[in-house]
Amino acid sequence: MSANAAQARVHRPQVKLWRVPVRRIERVTPRMARVTVGGDDLADFAGAGTDQNVMLYFYPDGVRLPEPLTLESARALWSKARPMTRTYTVARHDPDACEIDFDFVLHAADGLGSGWAQRARPGDPLIFVGPSPAYRPDPDAGTYLLAGDETALPAIAAILRELPAAARARVLVEVAGADEEQPLPTAADAEITWLHRDGRPAGRPDLLDGAVRGLDLPAGTTEAWVAGERSAVLAVRRHLLDERGLPRHRVRPTTYWRHGQSGN
Ligand SMILES: Cc1cc2nc3c(=O)[nH]c(=O)nc-3n(C[C@H](O)[C@H](O)[C@H](O)COP(=O)(O)OP(=O)(O)OC[C@H]3O[C@@H](n4cnc5c(N)ncnc54)[C@H](O)[C@@H]3O)c2cc1C
Repeated sequence: MSANAAQARVHRPQVKLWRVPVRRIERVTPRMARVTVGGDDLADFAGAGTDQNVMLYFYPDGVRLPEPLTLESARALWSKARPMTRTYTVARHDPDACEIDFDFVLHAADGLGSGWAQRARPGDPLIFVGPSPAYRPDPDAGTYLLAGDETALPAIAAILRELPAAARARVLVEVAGADEEQPLPTAADAEITWLHRDGRPAGRPDLLDGAVRGLDLPAGTTEAWVAGERSAVLAVRRHLLDERGLPRHRVRPTTYWRHGQSGN
């Protein structure tokens, strides 16, 4: 498949601004909070499949937001009040219940995103813009490699839910420890390996890169989706392209966060 054809597999839904109240919060694991937002406004939210994501908008306290709050009216306010933004995956979209789940890694109480999730209460508004184009697995790929850290877990879970029974997947997920593992339901023939940091800091490339290097992957038919901290994503990308010889359009790397740097 050509790079253009791969690009055509990216679905581009209509991007809008949404302001939706929190309905409930659940601790999925000790370091992961699931925040469910819901309301009739989400009736228009067009699902983009697999790992669709949105940009959360955080305004400074005391800012008077225009009514109605739309992408256009928010942009018109930018010279006076520009929101800080963070990108998060739509972990689950339930069109019937008009609900979206976001799964937040609780890495720091002072992180804009993670701190907000730690403090969120039912009724709090969440403003976000999206959804963004999502990854569409190439149906012609023989094996899907899905690799990432816990920030990639909502996306990996969403991709796995979409893979058909005939698909073969090798999944590598780096997490803090065994208590951060989550069920990853899929119809596919998936081999899931959890990589535990066991006290080592997040955001080092060795664990994920080392695990990918140890995999037996058919070079001709593997499609790789990789996300997480920048150095790990780059290390895995380099290995797949330069040492394994995977074609460029079959390697889909995304930096989700940067060590020592705020924002995406
Ligand atoms: C397309 C996309 C989808 C994403 N989906 C999700 C998602 O579903 N769930 C999710 O939790 N994250 C997701 N992320 C990653 C998330 O946006 C970043 O981790 C973001 O930096 C978190 O913002 P923050 O305000 O909490 O921390 P920031 O203010 O951005 O960062 C503060 C400090 O914490 C560090 N830091 C940031 N993230 C982490 C981390 N996970 N572990 C350890 N240290 C960290 C930074 O290096 C910085 O030093 C996604 C990113 C992208 C690009």
